[in-house]
Amino acid sequence: PVTERKMTDRNAAAGPVQKSSSSKNHADPPPAFVPEPEDGGERYSIGAFLGKGGFAVCYEGTLARNGKVFAMKVVKSQMPQKKMEEKVSATDPPGHGRSHTLTLFEFRTELQIHSKMRHPFIVQFYRAFAFEKSTYVVLELCPNGSVMDMVKKRRSLTLPEVRRFMIQLCAAVKYLHKRFVAHRDLKMGNLFLDHNMNIKVGDFGLAAMILSDKDAKRRNTLCGTPNYIAPEILDKSKGGHTQKVDIWSLGVIFFAMLTGYPPFQSKTQEEIYKKVRTLTYVWPKDSDHSNFIPEEAKDLVSACLNLVDEERPDPDDIVEHPFFNMYDGCIPRQLDPACRFNKPIWL
Ligand code: ADP
Repeated sequence: PVTERKMTDRNAAAGPVQKSSSSKNHADPPPAFVPEPEDGGERYSIGAFLGKGGFAVCYEGTLARNGKVFAMKVVKSQMPQKKMEEKVSATDPPGHGRSHTLTLFEFRTELQIHSKMRHPFIVQFYRAFAFEKSTYVVLELCPNGSVMDMVKKRRSLTLPEVRRFMIQLCAAVKYLHKRFVAHRDLKMGNLFLDHNMNIKVGDFGLAAMILSDKDAKRRNTLCGTPNYIAPEILDKSKGGHTQKVDIWSLGVIFFAMLTGYPPFQSKTQEEIYKKVRTLTYVWPKDSDHSNFIPEEAKDLVSACLNLVDEERPDPDDIVEHPFFNMYDGCIPRQLDPACRFNKPIWL
């Protein structure tokens, strides 16, 4: 099965686990209503369970006044309201503040970075506040699951769908990199889908600002998800990593959308890392695979999966690749949410 578990330096020795969490966090039912702190009397009514990560549980939250529905990410943080407000309004590059625990420190970085992002293909952050010993993060609702769910159901996607998703993803990554942000955990499970089946990049839990070479040198923590991890993150002697780690992940995502499995998939983490370091991946034989994978797609994947990070293309180079112009460059203007389950028929 395709797995997308996260690694950080601190948990590397203990094997793959997600962000620090207590399973108890997920057991507590949320309150039925949560007050909206900036609007006296206004409140969110907590609705359907949307999903859980290693760190957060997510529910629908509806504002009583206008019926607008959001995704509410709930994290047991015990973070005082004042501190939370400081975090979200802080203008310093993240990572320089103090916090009580590592978990809060990581969460603060996530909120600081995410709260400053505004882009059509990035999950919109609205606000974060503390209520009854939890932190609530109010996000744009993505009601159609993730690309991971879609690929699991469909096995693989058609070329027009892949083109559309890649173009949207490149736009989001260009925006992040222009602002010196490296997402560092791009994977199909973090590409959410809005009601129009547009990509929304989410989960900024491992994002970092990398402003200079010096910053890059300091960025040598092992982070990411084994299947999507770039070789320079594995090899600390290379002296850190830059935004280019995201381009490697784009290559992995691109391969996985076309084939249904990530290129370096293996039984153990060690085997995955060995394949990453030696750039060992195999395309399915045409006869074994229902979708034809053109040479242009293979060429683009190999450009992104370059062991030399500086040689990987930028998002602008990726969308200029001939892959996007094949067969008249058919890119669907709209996708029907039914394509989460069924292969679309292109007319
Ligand atoms: P964590 O930070 O713990 O990894 P995630 O950001 O991955 O948490 O969110 C956990 C789950 O909540 C996701 O897998 C997804 O099912 C759901 N989720 C998160 N954000 C949204 C959103 N904006 N819209 C809909 N569901 C969401």
